[in-house]
Amino acid sequence: MEKKLKEFLTAYDEKVIPLYKDLALTSWTANITGTDADLAASEKAAFEFDKFYTDAEAFTELKEIKASNSVLDPILLRQMDLIYDSYLSKQVDTSLLAGKLRMETEINKKYLNFRVQVNDKELSDNEVVDILRNSTNVSELQRVWEAHKLIGPVVAEEVIKLVKQRNLIAHKLGFSNFHEMSLKLSGQDPAEVTSVFDELDNLTRDNFKQLKDEIDLYYSKRYKINISELRPWHYQDRFFQEAPEIYSVDFDKYYKNQDPVKLAATFYDGIGLNVDAILAKSDLYEKPGKNQHAFCTDIDHAGDVRTLDNIRPDSYWMNTILHELGHGVYSYYNDMTLPFTLRDAAHTFTTEAIANMDGRFATDPDWMLQMGIISPEESKKIADDSRKALRLQQLVFSRWAQVMYRFEKSMYEDPDQDLNKLWWDMVEKYQMIKKPDDRNMPDWATKIHIALYPCYYHNYLLGEVLASQLYSYITTNITDNKSFVGDKAVGTYLKEKVFMPGARYYWNDMIEKATGEKLTAKYYAKQFVE
Ligand SMILES: [Zn+2]
Repeated sequence: MEKKLKEFLTAYDEKVIPLYKDLALTSWTANITGTDADLAASEKAAFEFDKFYTDAEAFTELKEIKASNSVLDPILLRQMDLIYDSYLSKQVDTSLLAGKLRMETEINKKYLNFRVQVNDKELSDNEVVDILRNSTNVSELQRVWEAHKLIGPVVAEEVIKLVKQRNLIAHKLGFSNFHEMSLKLSGQDPAEVTSVFDELDNLTRDNFKQLKDEIDLYYSKRYKINISELRPWHYQDRFFQEAPEIYSVDFDKYYKNQDPVKLAATFYDGIGLNVDAILAKSDLYEKPGKNQHAFCTDIDHAGDVRTLDNIRPDSYWMNTILHELGHGVYSYYNDMTLPFTLRDAAHTFTTEAIANMDGRFATDPDWMLQMGIISPEESKKIADDSRKALRLQQLVFSRWAQVMYRFEKSMYEDPDQDLNKLWWDMVEKYQMIKKPDDRNMPDWATKIHIALYPCYYHNYLLGEVLASQLYSYITTNITDNKSFVGDKAVGTYLKEKVFMPGARYYWNDMIEKATGEKLTAKYYAKQFVE
């Protein structure tokens, strides 16, 4: 059977590598030019790549090999399991998959076409964000918040239908629901993820409650109302997923005369992870038609790694370039002797962890001092507020991610339950925000991720949790330098224990081998909870 598998893998690699490269390259180009022709080429490549995995004959062959239980070589076994999951998700009646895609396209159109109306005036998304953030007029805040939530009833029914369609596909493939299927096929055990979320909930609850009292006090002064009168529209953010700026450090001013790319390159080179080859292939600055966000892509799992950014000299882009190059070094310093399928991250959230760990340095006064951005006096002056601001940001996001994870899980388990109530029960419990009186609206459907990027959000929080675990391990066992600056031992450790293992191990085994423990929220709590 091992011989049969080897033959299968040789044929598989021969076909999949060019399809993958084509997908990565056309998508890269489309994101830079934004032209219709390039977008069409990228869509076509995505279609071809997906189509490859619908091959029922290849799947049957692989299934037979897997069922024989006679493959023992760990590298072969791991490839087999990963490739098997890629095929499995596409082994369902194509009309079901096409139906799902059609529903997603229709719902996406509704989100795109929806415009917020307030007093006969149309508001763009940016204007809504701007008013919620900056207005102190309480009735205006309520009006705008309620108006932007009107996308909920426009899409809610169709989202429930889509959820049922996804569940139907999951049932056909032998899973109890789509949430379970999504996690399992991406190599996560739902029970394992839930236990990390439970641990995190217990560790953050009391501290968040205290901070939430501080936040509420701040807002009651800001709006000159009683704390008991605070409602969701007072929290300066559509979902209270970002922290209010109750501590006053203006990081942007320190980066005004800096070159974030040069700083990031110097930092990575200093820890033994030179990024020149990545930067040489990257597209770093604003251009007409270009994607305005940022990402990092591994074009061939063989050293062609690039990042797309729109760098400006401010703290946001300092964080972003450190973040994207974190993804970059993970890919670039992979073990090139591994087979193609394993020259990848252990999981998407493990590469997110490296990116987050490094991105956090952009607002770390000690890092800024060691990188020559600020003076020792300035570093000392902002140390306390910087730490508090990061803690607040982490805890606010962490409680919000609890809502997203638990709502989605419960929704896929029973889409016929009262979802409006479920949503507000979660918001009140985890974010400790009071539901507006008598509100019975599908506010859950106003978060586009619920409809169109399903069962993925929890990975953002797992990335933060692992970032803290790795950071704690490194600063306890590898270096005395809390900012890593200039310490090549950090790069050596990351290469050997995280990057080069690639996807060779199940993610929690990789984490255990790298830190001596499975994924735990302990270090996240140590860093952000007092
Ligand atoms: Zn990222």
